Amino acid sequence: MKKITEFTREELLELQEELEKQYEEFKAQGLKLDMSRGKPAASQLDLTNGLLTALDDYHTESGLDARNYGVLDGIPEAKKLFSDLLDIPVDKIIVGGSSSLNLMYDAMTRLMLFGTQGEKPWKDVKGIKWLCPSPGYDRHFAVTEDMGMELIPVPMTAEGPDMDVVEKLVAEDDTIKGIWCVPLHSNPLGACYSDETVDRLASMKTAAKDFRIFWDNAYGVHHIYEEVPLKDIFKAAAACGNEDRILYFFSTSKITFPGAGIAIMASSLSNIAEIKKHMTIQTIGHDKLNQLRHVKYFGNAENIRAHMRKLADALRPKFDMVLDTLDAELGETGLASWVTPKGGYFVALDTLPGCAKETVRLAKEAGVTMTGAGATWPYKKDPKDSNIRIAPTYPTIEELDKAIHLFCLCVKLAGVKKLIG
Ligand code: PLP
Repeated sequence: MKKITEFTREELLELQEELEKQYEEFKAQGLKLDMSRGKPAASQLDLTNGLLTALDDYHTESGLDARNYGVLDGIPEAKKLFSDLLDIPVDKIIVGGSSSLNLMYDAMTRLMLFGTQGEKPWKDVKGIKWLCPSPGYDRHFAVTEDMGMELIPVPMTAEGPDMDVVEKLVAEDDTIKGIWCVPLHSNPLGACYSDETVDRLASMKTAAKDFRIFWDNAYGVHHIYEEVPLKDIFKAAAACGNEDRILYFFSTSKITFPGAGIAIMASSLSNIAEIKKHMTIQTIGHDKLNQLRHVKYFGNAENIRAHMRKLADALRPKFDMVLDTLDAELGETGLASWVTPKGGYFVALDTLPGCAKETVRLAKEAGVTMTGAGATWPYKKDPKDSNIRIAPTYPTIEELDKAIHLFCLCVKLAGVKKLIG
C-alpha cells in the first residue's frame, strides 16, 4: 500500500475531502469524551473497594493507637510492605501522605531552602538547571519550573534518557543539579530503563557534588504485557559511593485510590536522617489509619502483585484497542509513529512534525479531549510539535473505541492538511 506521505497533490486533496466528511459525521455525534489524564476508571477503583471496610481495628501490630498523633515516618508494618514490594531496606523508607508528587515537591523545596549534605542551598545557585528527559511527565517539569530552574530537555530512547548526552552535560556544568527519571513504563513513552542506563546514572561523574536523581518509580509494578525487571539503583549507586544521589519515590495512586493511597520515599541513611530533621518541623505525622488499612487489606507484597495482575487484565483490552486501532488506521500511512508499551498508563504517539497541536484541536472540536499537545515537554514546548500522549484508562471500552477512531481521523486530517501545505 502506498503511504499517504507519498501521495500526489491530487490524491491528497481527494483524501482530504473524504476525511473532512468523516470528521463532520463524528462531530454530529456530539461526543464528550476524555483521554487527557492518566486516571483510573471507576471499574478499576472498584477492584480495591475492600479498602473501604478493611479497618476493623485501629491498633498497629505493636499496639499503638493509629487514631492519635505520632510516628513521623510511617508505621513499621507499612514500611515492611513497601520494603518487600520494592526490595528496599525498611530503614531507608519514609512513608508519607497520599501523594508522591507532594513528596517530590517537598524534597525539591528542602534542597532549595536548605541544601543537602553541607552543600549550599540551591536557591543560592545562580543559573540552576535540571535535566528533563523528554517526552516526560508534565507535572515533574512543572515542579522544577516552579522552583525557578532552567529546564534542559534530554532525548529519550526506549532504554531511558540518552546517556551520552546526560553524562556530557552533568560532567561539564555544576549548576545542573539533577534529573527526573521514571525508570519503568515511563510517562508517556513506556520506556523501561536498561541495566546499562541504571549503571551509568548511578556511576556517572557529576560536576555538582549534590547532584540528585529523582527516581520516580510510579509505574514500578504496573506491568500490562510483560513483567519488566529493573536494576536496583541503590545497589548500583552504593557500589560507586554515590548512594546519596538517589531520591526514590513511589505511591499506590494507581494501585488503590489516587488521592487516598500511600506515597513513600526512600534514600540513603544519611539523606533519610537529614530529611527527617526537617520533616519533624513540618508535620507530627501522616495518616496512620490509611497506612493501617492498606496493610490490613493487602497483608503482604505478593497480594499487591496479584492485584496488579488483575488490574493488568482489566487494562489490557483498553491498550489492545488503542494499539490495534492505531495499527489499522495509521500503520501504513507514514503519518504517525508510536511505541507499544509493556505497561504503565500511556501510549505516546508522534505525528508528522507540526501536526500535534492541530490534531489535538481537531479532536477537541469534535468532543474528545486529549492531553494538550506540547505538555510532555519542558515549558509545554515540543520543538517538533509532534508528540501526543494517549491515556486509555479512564473512558469505558465503548467510549474508547469512538475516541481512538476519532483521534486517528484527526491525525490523518492534520497530516494531510500539512502535506498539502
Ligand atoms: N509520577 C508519575 C510519573 C505520574 O505519572 C503520576 C501521575 O500520573 C504521579 C507521579 C503522581 O503520583 P501521586 O498520585 O503519588 O502524587
